[in-house]
Amino acid sequence: MNCYPYLTIDLSKIEHNTRAIVALCGKYGIEVIGVTKVTCGHPEVARAMLRGGVTSIADSRFENIQRLKDAGIQTTFVLLRFPPLSGVDKTVELTDISLNSELSVLEGMSKAAAQRNKLHDVIIMVDLGDLREGVMPDDLIPFMREAIKLPNINIMGLGTNLACFSGVEPNEDNMQQLVELAKTVEATFNLKLDTLSGINSSGLELIAAGRMPRQINHARIGEAILLGRETLHRRPWPGTFQDAFILHAEVLEQKLKPSAPVGIRSEDAFGKQPAFEDRGKIDRILVNVGREDIDVDGTTPLDSRLKILGASSGYLAIDATDSKGQYKVGDEISFTLNYSALLRVMTSEYVKKRAIGGKPA
Ligand SMILES: *Cc1c(COP(=O)(O)O)cnc(C)c1O
Repeated sequence: MNCYPYLTIDLSKIEHNTRAIVALCGKYGIEVIGVTKVTCGHPEVARAMLRGGVTSIADSRFENIQRLKDAGIQTTFVLLRFPPLSGVDKTVELTDISLNSELSVLEGMSKAAAQRNKLHDVIIMVDLGDLREGVMPDDLIPFMREAIKLPNINIMGLGTNLACFSGVEPNEDNMQQLVELAKTVEATFNLKLDTLSGINSSGLELIAAGRMPRQINHARIGEAILLGRETLHRRPWPGTFQDAFILHAEVLEQKLKPSAPVGIRSEDAFGKQPAFEDRGKIDRILVNVGREDIDVDGTTPLDSRLKILGASSGYLAIDATDSKGQYKVGDEISFTLNYSALLRVMTSEYVKKRAIGGKPA
């Protein structure tokens, strides 16, 4: 007996997608690390990525990395979100590589690494215009002058993150800017930066077009592996699956009801006043997922005759008129998810997660 709602995670599709992305990047000398954060560090997902050829696993949260380690996964772990000053020891304890942009944090990490007799690897992030994280380019040399002095910290390279916050596209210009910054750092301090981490899933088109500067040798990839899409236009990436994750929910009510509300209207449960078109009576069904579990805008019924009308915290309302009475109480309805909806589903403890299609752990 299925207990709804639940999410199926097709591990063979994730492994397949990983292989496709790793093969593309490998052709251009780019190493791929697998980003599990949207799955809250799901161990089977990480294993599928590793089988598919990523060299390490990156996540933004300590809890997720701990979960992966507790599950027995042995690989290089990268902390994607900057370490908090209050968590430098945890960072050094739990992860092998972290991304950084603040000297005070690096100083703390240096001390923590010394106490543990460890060498901690660091990628210094540079902000090339997307305005989320990173040192501003003009400040990089003075920053590096201090950073390279810190004992037990190995600056393995530079990185940048684009597209995530402001939607700035990676292109030949900003990637070349990263290359030039690395050259300047190398010449100024007479050192070698091994890693130039240029992109996330938004950079695949640039790579495939053969326009990525060849010095860029590192990519941090989540969405393209998990949902099979590049992230500038959310186009399906050739040779990958878009449906590794499917949400399954159950019909709780099915009735013929008006399409427009009856009565005097004020705010709904979320402070909005949605508009409804009066189309007479329609076949309305309620299923047992809501805003607590999904991002409604990123949730799409597999049966294209079904149209989502709206949601409250625990109910999703669907117009099933075009399905001609196919769906009854107790039936299953399945959905594909975008990144935002997947994040919500993975974070919701009310949705059970079921890995399928994988090899036994
Ligand atoms: C989330 C994240 C990524 C992965 O992004 P995708 O679009 O899922 O590939 C890469 N780098 C950083 C710094 C991130 O925070």
